[in-house]
Amino acid sequence: MTAQIINGKEIAAKKRLEIAEEVEKLKSQGITPGLAVILVGNNHASQTYVKNKEKACKELGMYSLLIEMLEEVSEGELLAKIEELNEATEIHGILVQLPLPKHIDEKKVIESISPLKDVDGFHPINIGRMMTGQNAFLPCTPYGIMVLLEESDISISGKHVVVVGRSNIVGKPVGQLFLNQHATVTYCHSRTKDLKFHTNQADIIVAAVGIPNFIKAEHIKDGAVVIDVGINRNEAGKLCGDVDFDEVSEKAGYITPVPKGVGPMTITMLMYNTLKSAAESLNRK
Ligand code: NAD
Repeated sequence: MTAQIINGKEIAAKKRLEIAEEVEKLKSQGITPGLAVILVGNNHASQTYVKNKEKACKELGMYSLLIEMLEEVSEGELLAKIEELNEATEIHGILVQLPLPKHIDEKKVIESISPLKDVDGFHPINIGRMMTGQNAFLPCTPYGIMVLLEESDISISGKHVVVVGRSNIVGKPVGQLFLNQHATVTYCHSRTKDLKFHTNQADIIVAAVGIPNFIKAEHIKDGAVVIDVGINRNEAGKLCGDVDFDEVSEKAGYITPVPKGVGPMTITMLMYNTLKSAAESLNRK
């Protein structure tokens, strides 16, 4: 079997058009969705991510505010800036680019963002709301994965989903979103014994491990849906996922490539969350 490719780039482009239309509607009601991004220090990868977020905002007609802070900024100064943004009426989403320098407590910073503007979906209140099936900002990468499946008409209810990886930003929340949609979910991680035993039973596998080409054909059953979250560099310096695409795509039913799979959905869902926040602020007026 040769897998059908789930084209994240195309699906993201379609979603972005829909978002841009909604942005125009909100603007005609006097609200321009605004996203503030705080970047601390000069981590090269973070600078690239932040630039891409600014670009996406502009393309979709949103307001974007970039706040750059020196590596040495104190935790207090950062928290004061977040407090100011929590109050700013032109800002509907606040994102602090991670990782932060070691002297700053990441958890404290995340919790200082108003849950109403937490468009990354990392605040414990939004996580709790997501877990209990309430209205919440969903974390962007897991949310993007659910949209990829929905747009590919892949049903979830009753399916066995195996998530490899249990990070707070990808593995844990994506499993929860599958559970919310009535899947049976198994989590695997670095201490799982006999990974292959579990992954071989999966109708849908999500690989969020951070190890290049880690999931092989022997890990999956014929026709499985394989979602590759990984963004890695192989020995040759080439971008690759957590799934060995060449061999797994011969056996899977569906597969996301890297690049052009999950990646483009993450920023798209960030834009969607900012739009949602702006629309909800209108209802609170
Ligand atoms: P992480 O390092 O926080 O977590 C990795 C997880 O993999 C851990 O829970 C660990 O238990 C598990 N793991 C490690 N070794 C394992 C093994 N041998 N067997 C089974 N499980 C094992 O990583 P993360 O932040 O969740 O990111 C995972 C990957 O996804 C990375 O490549 C990252 O760059 C990528 N990522 C992509 C996007 C995107 O937008 N596409 C967003 C976030 C992360």
